[in-house]
Amino acid sequence: MLFFALLAASCTDEKSETAELHWTYSGETGPEHWGNLEPEYALCETGLQQSPVNFNNATANNALPILTFDYHAASGTLRSNGHALQFDYPPGSKVSIDSTDYTLKQFHFHTPSEHGLGLIAWPLEMHLVHQHADGKLVVVGVLFHESETESDFLAQFLEKIEMASLEVEVDDVNAAATLPSNKSYYAYEGSLTTPPCSEGVTWRVLRTSIPASQEQLSAITRVFIENSRPLQALGSRTIQSSP
Ligand SMILES: [Zn+2]
Repeated sequence: MLFFALLAASCTDEKSETAELHWTYSGETGPEHWGNLEPEYALCETGLQQSPVNFNNATANNALPILTFDYHAASGTLRSNGHALQFDYPPGSKVSIDSTDYTLKQFHFHTPSEHGLGLIAWPLEMHLVHQHADGKLVVVGVLFHESETESDFLAQFLEKIEMASLEVEVDDVNAAATLPSNKSYYAYEGSLTTPPCSEGVTWRVLRTSIPASQEQLSAITRVFIENSRPLQALGSRTIQSSP
């Protein structure tokens, strides 16, 4: 709880000078108010292609390309960005889709999951944020379920998070270690799930979830009790499911 208190304090202190810290996940600056907090957040209210969404009624599409991950081990810092735990990835790792490369920029965590499947939500969702040279974003989502089995990938962060430091150095992180062997996915076009809720984001959420222990899930929840945006209307979009 000490860790959470520290985060809350830093959020308040920086609110006046950093506009993007003004929003929260509850209360008067919570998700239903994001669109009115700042003019540049308007899409959070008016956008028609917002994320996250529910994956029920997904349509199989055998023509969807495979995702080719080329991730490399990296050293860096896991820190709070004010809204989530984030690891900025050094250059050199990428995902390729239809021969187009998207560089892995960072990954971060949401508790509980943002995307849903019918009535199902997962306790944790990781977002691997990639960007093409032209600015186009592709976010790969990885869902975690509670299990007897620990996630070795999460363990390398969580041991240090429990030391209650806001910034922890982590060596030899390889995001490839958290990907399931079956990389089939849900596909749709959406948005950032945080203000400014910019659209034009290509989502690829892996259908196979990853095990993590109850202790690990609790450790992350101690930092951010809840940092997930509610489900958004699908509207005229369709969810597609890869082979
Ligand atoms: Zn995210």
